Amino acid sequence: NPEEVVLSINNIEVVYDDVIQVLRGVSIDVPKGSIVTLLGPNGAGKSTTLKSISGLLKTENGEVTKGDISFLGKRIDNANAAEIVSSGLFQVMEGRRIIEDMTVVENLRLGAYTRSDNQINQDIDMVFSYFPRLKERTGLAGYLSGGEQQMLAIGRALMARPKMICLDEPSMGLSPLLVKEVFGIIEKINREQGITMLLVEQNANYALKAAHYGYIMESGKIVLDGTREQLLNNEDVKEFYLGGG
Ligand code: ATP
Repeated sequence: NPEEVVLSINNIEVVYDDVIQVLRGVSIDVPKGSIVTLLGPNGAGKSTTLKSISGLLKTENGEVTKGDISFLGKRIDNANAAEIVSSGLFQVMEGRRIIEDMTVVENLRLGAYTRSDNQINQDIDMVFSYFPRLKERTGLAGYLSGGEQQMLAIGRALMARPKMICLDEPSMGLSPLLVKEVFGIIEKINREQGITMLLVEQNANYALKAAHYGYIMESGKIVLDGTREQLLNNEDVKEFYLGGG
């Protein structure tokens, strides 16, 4: 079965505060081992889609009012955040949310808090092999640069040994050079660890290079989807998302 779908979002509608409808029938499939990107402008509903997947919608008085979401064949649209994490679906939030008054290693250990095996030190070394510069930073995580904090947030997700990681705008606040570096590492982790990924981005140039398949969301709807090649060659995508040409 070459196209086993790990995450399946099926025609969901999402409403905040009982009245504000933000998602208007969104369907997304993420096949096993792939990187899928969700692109779209500010306010399109990308973060809302991620919150629906992670069980965090309720904390903002939002609700999936129609459709369903399955992870590894199990319904998660009404599950709570802790249940979803322990089923192997981990989210790296926008703004990174590392613990600033803890060290890099302490932050990484936090990522492994649900584990009871004895390979945690090995996995810290594995994270350092992807992000060698984190190993050199022995002070508090609050002193890390924006790029290093992003790396730490991804590393902490890896420590949970997830089956799938959702990344919310990993390019945010990073220089073009760092974005390139972080996306290169994301691709490498996907290739070497086989972790399925959903990558939410405004930066379509980088995201489409890293992804196998992409969806474009505008005003709470998917307006276009296709393989990396199809989207990179689409005239509308070129004009509106890849900066002309
Ligand atoms: P951005 O890239 O700016 O994060 P986005 O594509 O992720 O944009 P969302 O953050 O999902 O978009 O927002 C989509 C719409 O939902 C916006 O109009 C926003 O104002 C609205 N919205 C988001 N969160 C809430 C909330 N907690 N309550 C009410 N409306 C909300």
